[in-house]
Amino acid sequence: MIIGNGPVITNDPANPFVHDGAVVVKGDSIVAVGPVAEIRAAHPGEQMLDVGGRVIMAGLINAHTHAYSAYARGMAIHQPTRSFTEILENLWWRLDRLLTLQDVELNAGTTFIESIRNGVTTVFDHHSSPNAVSGSLQRMADVAGLIGIRTSLCYETSDRDGAGVLAAAIAENALFMKQVNTDEQDMVKGLFGLHASFTLSEASLDAVCAAKEGIAGGFHVHVAEAAGDEADSQAKYGRRVVQRFDDHGMLGPETIAAHGVHASPDELDLLRGRDTSVVHNPHSNMSNAVGVASVVDMLARGLRVGLGTDAYTPDILASAQVAKILASDHLADPTAGFGEALQLAFVNNPKICSTFFRKDLGVLRAGTYADLITVAYRPNTPLDAESAGGHILFGMNGSQVNDTMVNGAWVMRDRQILTVDEAAIFARSTQRAPHIWAQM
Ligand SMILES: [Zn+2]
Repeated sequence: MIIGNGPVITNDPANPFVHDGAVVVKGDSIVAVGPVAEIRAAHPGEQMLDVGGRVIMAGLINAHTHAYSAYARGMAIHQPTRSFTEILENLWWRLDRLLTLQDVELNAGTTFIESIRNGVTTVFDHHSSPNAVSGSLQRMADVAGLIGIRTSLCYETSDRDGAGVLAAAIAENALFMKQVNTDEQDMVKGLFGLHASFTLSEASLDAVCAAKEGIAGGFHVHVAEAAGDEADSQAKYGRRVVQRFDDHGMLGPETIAAHGVHASPDELDLLRGRDTSVVHNPHSNMSNAVGVASVVDMLARGLRVGLGTDAYTPDILASAQVAKILASDHLADPTAGFGEALQLAFVNNPKICSTFFRKDLGVLRAGTYADLITVAYRPNTPLDAESAGGHILFGMNGSQVNDTMVNGAWVMRDRQILTVDEAAIFARSTQRAPHIWAQM
């Protein structure tokens, strides 16, 4: 199949932009990218989907989010809530305890559909449902499979609900990782999910590492999101959070450290030394008032910093835009953050994927997975290799995404989800949410 007749932003440094371009898809992969006339001549008889001038881009990647938070949209918090700890206690830890396996499915359904609508083809999710732990990751994987989105899933291990839930969480991660981290498929991968240092004792981390022994894949954990995480680690263990995790052997190229807002320069260098990915979530950090991650400094130190939404929005383009303006504002430098925001979303998120998936994602070139989108974006100024980043950061948003393909199959065409009954899933979620809200 040829998808063509529009500008192509490839993300491939060797061929970054094609004016009147086309992409050839065969099976689950891209086999060619080039000018539409050349592509048609080289592939006679191949059917072409004419995108009518829409922008063709690689599928977007969200490197950190939480589908379990889906019912929180529009929900009121009735308790006085003035700190990050109180946000966890009054909102997230009340909500996740109410979730059943059916809720887990519904939340995955609405979250993954909204991701596809915003052009996100790969989602790294961090799940929690303490009263419905066992089987939760497989339920989410089943929903992702029905919708047709690529995912990395993990369960948020924590001490906060007692020894039984802790043991169930450890078992859930280990079982799921063993099942999915194989060469047989590349649509869903597992990481070992941990909440954060301040909700995990030494004994719990020892149990986690013992269970993880011999299982392929890394960890996905919140690191120094708020100042209290570092203070807790120093008070209880005499070490900062990153050092503590390193002492347990948890850092490495397949581990994702979300946030890192309060990580010290030494901790950042340690993460860099272990080749561990950091994921920046600017909306969430601003909204929770936890502080500003030093993203420009992190990148200057050579860290692989990716970009997530932390469930604040399904629109990773919006997250890139906020990453830009947050860095500019924080450093009081209007030029700061522009290149960095693009690097997070369009260079480093694909690099993070390449540590888990066998073929490259987030890039349109021969040999990468056919995860791509078309964007109904009409530029009012020249769109070319040099200006593409500016158009992305100042002109595009997720609701302009018209078509989404994952693994060579259309999941959305002309803004219609093709794989599942979207209206029914959203109706079920809307019916169920008030029962959850009433128990908050
Ligand atoms: Zn998070």
